[in-house]
Amino acid sequence: MTQVVILAGGMGTRLREITGDLPKPLAPVAGTTLLGRQLDLVAASSLKDVVILSGYRADLIADYCGDGSRWGLTVRCIAEGEPRGTAGAVLDALPQLQDSFIVMYGDVVLDVDLDRLVEAHRRHGAAATLLVHPNDHPFDSDIVELDADNYVTRMRGYPHPEGIDLPNLVNAGLYVLERAALAQVADLPAKPDFGKHVFAAMVAQGQRLYGYRSPEYIKDAGTPERLAKTGRDIASGKVAGLSLRTRAPAIFLDRDGVLNQEVGLISRPQDLALYPGVGAAVARINRSAYRSVVITNQPVIARGDTTVEGLAQIHARLDTLLARDHAYVDALYYCPHHPDKGFPGEVSELKFVCECRKPATGLIDRAAEELQIDLGRSWLIGDTTIDVELARRTGVRSILVGTGHAGKDGRFAAEPDLRAPDLAAAVSLILGDEVAPAG
Ligand SMILES: [Zn+2]
Repeated sequence: MTQVVILAGGMGTRLREITGDLPKPLAPVAGTTLLGRQLDLVAASSLKDVVILSGYRADLIADYCGDGSRWGLTVRCIAEGEPRGTAGAVLDALPQLQDSFIVMYGDVVLDVDLDRLVEAHRRHGAAATLLVHPNDHPFDSDIVELDADNYVTRMRGYPHPEGIDLPNLVNAGLYVLERAALAQVADLPAKPDFGKHVFAAMVAQGQRLYGYRSPEYIKDAGTPERLAKTGRDIASGKVAGLSLRTRAPAIFLDRDGVLNQEVGLISRPQDLALYPGVGAAVARINRSAYRSVVITNQPVIARGDTTVEGLAQIHARLDTLLARDHAYVDALYYCPHHPDKGFPGEVSELKFVCECRKPATGLIDRAAEELQIDLGRSWLIGDTTIDVELARRTGVRSILVGTGHAGKDGRFAAEPDLRAPDLAAAVSLILGDEVAPAG
């Protein structure tokens, strides 16, 4: 049984104007407290055993939680001695913890399907699982680099070096940890940090750390401004709406000819350039109730023009260009296959008629399953009749844009629901504040 460990040791100096001498986790938000929301979230999962690692005003935290029965949980508070930072508090408490546990920070607002996270951790046999997600400021966030199977290859603390493209995969500060694996980590500083020290050391030891990609809401609420912002996000329904506990609509985006300029097959990052206005348009999607999901055919891999790693670099370029406008895509799915065999340099095992090359529905089927997408409320924005046909087959409404191929490929007879000159206009049609003519 997986335990939940909440790190509640922070003093909350920056929140003092709101909380007085209350510890940060007891800061008020949306009619309850940060900690109360977290206990509500745990109570909604199958997890029932909570340990709270407290420090500053541990007495108030203990009074607030009681034995946890108010939430239908078992809650035990452990007050740390010397402040040892977040990872230090967990390491010191290890003998009192169970074999496997979630770690969450007491000063964040989050809504995550915890059972799904734990299930992914178990399925991948990981020593640690880190929830990673894109955010609107990756340049000053800790980035987690993953291999093609989503195992962690490198932890990158910011500031990041100039001139390199990094994937927008931010360490969200929500972990599932194996006690035995953690116990093997040695030679840490006195106040170790999970990202910088503990996980970096585990990767160096060759332990398997899994990166769990999720679009769910996890935000620090540790300053008055952030606390107010997260309160507004709770009130607007955004926090719950992003959770994988509920289905949400998506805006599916074709890549070439919609996001980036159509220049034929792209096999090098430097050949990828966004159309004007694309970053701002994607940022609008990010602020809406829609998930943003790129769906793209990339036969460059089957053709041998680039590799899976090379395509990841191209997509790191895409992430970097979008991030300059504080925009991101929640997920990107691509088909690496191609049906026609017999070309020099090709990867013959990828040359077959697959179920994911658009307009086949495999990529959208997978996205719908993994991201809890309500297809009936979703849209696809594309520049070819292949995209329009894919939308028709999956029951998603479509908008054909005038950029890229502008629908002139003539492959399928399917008609789009709407037409728009470019991505920004298409997003406006969906989100509805500017009316543009259809047809
Ligand atoms: Zn495919």
